[in-house]
Amino acid sequence: MEQLLEVKNLEVNFTTYGGEVKAVRDVSFHINKSEILAIVGESGSGKSVTVQTIMGLLPKNVTKIKNGAIYYKGQNLLKLKKSQLRKLKGSKISMIFQDPMTSLNPTMKIGSQIAEGLRIHHNISKQDAKAQATNMIKLVGIPNPEQRYDQYPHEFSGGMRQRAMIAIALACKPELLIADEPTTALDVTIQAQVLKLMVDLKEKTDTAIILITHDLGVVAETAERVAVMYAGVIVETGTVDEIFRNPKHPYTWGLMESIPDFNSKKKERLIPIEGSPPDLFAPPKGCPFAPRCKYAMEICASEMPGDYEISTSHHAKCWLNDEQSPSADEILSLGRTLYE
Ligand code: SF4
Repeated sequence: MEQLLEVKNLEVNFTTYGGEVKAVRDVSFHINKSEILAIVGESGSGKSVTVQTIMGLLPKNVTKIKNGAIYYKGQNLLKLKKSQLRKLKGSKISMIFQDPMTSLNPTMKIGSQIAEGLRIHHNISKQDAKAQATNMIKLVGIPNPEQRYDQYPHEFSGGMRQRAMIAIALACKPELLIADEPTTALDVTIQAQVLKLMVDLKEKTDTAIILITHDLGVVAETAERVAVMYAGVIVETGTVDEIFRNPKHPYTWGLMESIPDFNSKKKERLIPIEGSPPDLFAPPKGCPFAPRCKYAMEICASEMPGDYEISTSHHAKCWLNDEQSPSADEILSLGRTLYE
């Protein structure tokens, strides 16, 4: 498969009055052409900061990119001039956000907002841009596209606004779409429609999608590969099948236990992950999940686990995968954890 984007050893800090927040720590992953990769994790895990770094959206005055590279077709985005990055954004790489109301321009007609990108990046006539924008409105499933072209965002429902955002993002046929929690603000039925729309469009246009979400249900329905993020670190990556059927990191186990199983006939309690994420001003020296992990061993507190290869597509950063480690069951049978 042809690789489209590769993030390598990315480290991003924020300068605050309280010190430096280490928001993204040695993050590496890639996405192939026309693939859907989900980055999953709880709030503050660094997933949005990672994609905002790709898009060059972080405020320069407080952001320090300490290390790493972001290769798009072999070109390091972190080394591009502002004007070169601007050219790529919108034409080759697009982004949709959680709340369409804050991303759409309330004073501009929806159709004009879609046509604007087409005119800037494709240098086409007003008439052609209008025709293509109307077609995009139709493609994302908004009825009466000619009439909707001339309406303003406040005349659209939440779901329709999100569809309009997708139309804007896809109008220039980008090779990569970054969708940051695109359905969180929508109700469940609309959420399912918007996700199906994204998958259908990916099939039709071959666009690769990085989907940021905290919802494993969305991941299972939509993605092909998954990266699980915790405290600024990618702790596990694999295909959807590998992550759902054979997860190899206790944080991923915790995420799985905290989602309802609608096929189960028994009444089952959902098990929350106890505790809270570490302080990213001074992250733990060892495994970031150690203070919440019931399998934590001495080494977990002092040394960051390496990236263990489970299969060529499946990796996990957890000492339990070391051949010298006792099994999870053996640790539990001791009846105590390191952090009791
Ligand atoms: Fe738990 Fe240790 Fe694995 Fe971290 S490395 S998840 S603390 S067992």
